[in-house]
Amino acid sequence: MMFAWQKLVDARGRKWSPCSIRQACIASGYSREFLVREDETGRFWSNALILGLVYAILMMLFGELTGVLFGIDISMDFLSLPGQVQFWGYAISFGGAMGLINKFYGWRKSAAAVRAMIRAGLCPACAYRIDGCEPEADGCTVCPECGAAWRIYEIDGTTPQD
Ligand SMILES: [Zn+2]
Repeated sequence: MMFAWQKLVDARGRKWSPCSIRQACIASGYSREFLVREDETGRFWSNALILGLVYAILMMLFGELTGVLFGIDISMDFLSLPGQVQFWGYAISFGGAMGLINKFYGWRKSAAAVRAMIRAGLCPACAYRIDGCEPEADGCTVCPECGAAWRIYEIDGTTPQD
């Protein structure tokens, strides 16, 4: 699962799509628990609440729209209990699913993705192992697989061994 709206910017200012947590586990052979700290994954509740409500409201508007356009009345009667149950049913089921997807597959922020991947010695863009690569003159370690450039020693707080 890839979150297209999350963008990474590497040390040379180029934009990349982050490697998903799942891809990183498969490529590295590391477990999810080893690779990612709890505070680096997507949030369940904020995603569930926002996306759930947005979805339920869209379904409500869709119901009104089909009534106006095609005369098919599937609008939710918000004053009745069944209508409210339907609305919250949409909100909870869609929101819950999106919250879980974000929690298990999404990074919290692109900075968290970079930090976690560099900590594990992997390229944040493609999960190729880069911790053995020599940094170039500007201090960037360039991924031989995809060409993304990272200042890994600044990010993981260690110093290069000479
Ligand atoms: Zn790479």
